[in-house]
Amino acid sequence: MVTSPPAIPTTTKDRVLIIGATGFIGKFVAEASLTSEHPTCLLVRPGPLVPSKDAIVKTFQDKGAIVIHGVINNKDFVEKILKEYEIDIVISAIGAKSLLDQLILVEAMKSVKTIKRFLPSEFGHDVDKADPVEPGLTMYKEKRLVRRVVEESGVPFTNICCNSIASWPYHDNCHPSQLPPPLDQLQIYGHGNVKAYFVDGIDIGKFTMKVIDDVRTVNKNVHFRPSNNCYSVNELASLWEKKIGRTIPRVTISEDDLLAVAAENCIPRSIVASFTHDIFIKGCQVNFNIDGLGDVEISTLYPEEAFRSLEDCFDAFAIMIDDKIHKGENKIAGTESVVEAVPFKASCG
Ligand code: NDP
Repeated sequence: MVTSPPAIPTTTKDRVLIIGATGFIGKFVAEASLTSEHPTCLLVRPGPLVPSKDAIVKTFQDKGAIVIHGVINNKDFVEKILKEYEIDIVISAIGAKSLLDQLILVEAMKSVKTIKRFLPSEFGHDVDKADPVEPGLTMYKEKRLVRRVVEESGVPFTNICCNSIASWPYHDNCHPSQLPPPLDQLQIYGHGNVKAYFVDGIDIGKFTMKVIDDVRTVNKNVHFRPSNNCYSVNELASLWEKKIGRTIPRVTISEDDLLAVAAENCIPRSIVASFTHDIFIKGCQVNFNIDGLGDVEISTLYPEEAFRSLEDCFDAFAIMIDDKIHKGENKIAGTESVVEAVPFKASCG
């Protein structure tokens, strides 16, 4: 069902369709698309939205987004809107549960033959290189399948491998940047020295929009490895302590602890634990070089463009906590910095 008339502004910029704009990553991409003045259509699932998502959609509409109600797993419908709205670029930020719905979307894009670029719902690791344990592996197998079907389809694509979102890397929360780093204890994964890359959500959106306009990224995996944002968990812990001006007890979460949470198979918590294991025990973000023909690092494309620093993001979290303390919502616990192994029990529910 198409509810809004196709009143697309006249411009030479490519027309973008974003799927999943009410989601965690999709919001950053939609915001950046509107800022970059690409005519932006959002495919929003029909039916009543929860008030917070309804508010997000209204905000985007106020900024000029055209909202189309529908789902991507309906080939005829998708073909119709791709033609009717003359879409050039399709960006999918669909959630983990619906990754395979993209197979129907790819069929539709292949049929219309006019799509200049497709960005599938990746926005994490290079799924052909990373090798998490289950249940993360099943999700990666789905992303790998989508990659193969897109490659086969002939639709030009770009895979965004933006690594970790800038935040404390909670091993049991799939949207960790929605929380500030902890105040009571800092969980250190293994010896805590394996590095990872952290990218602010606003930069994920901003650089995604640069990539869609750049011929150098056609049929490539674009890796986000900002050199100023490469931290181990030990370094993250020290950074956070510096920001809040005090030490926090550190506890070790061992490799076995993470594997035990993954083995519980509680979705999504166990998926996050399996990725945490892959990142901070096995080093999946840093254990390969970007030198393949199909790979490019974003800083080599835009050396003049800075990424928001993790220092800056942690400053913002510290201010957020300060505000909450002043409102009496947060109490400070723990003043000693110690590293100890704590008994860690895997439990589901
Ligand atoms: P969310 O679950 O937050 O949002 C999913 C979005 O997809 C929602 O807008 C949802 O709509 C929409 N959607 C789901 N199914 C359909 C469908 N059939 N048709 C149309 N729309 C649909 O997803 P995330 O933002 O968590 O995940 C997006 C991608 O980002 C994933 O690939 C994930 O792996 C990755 N990711 C990366 C992170 C990182 O740290 N690098 C962190 C989190 C995610 P509705 O609002 O109706 O539910």
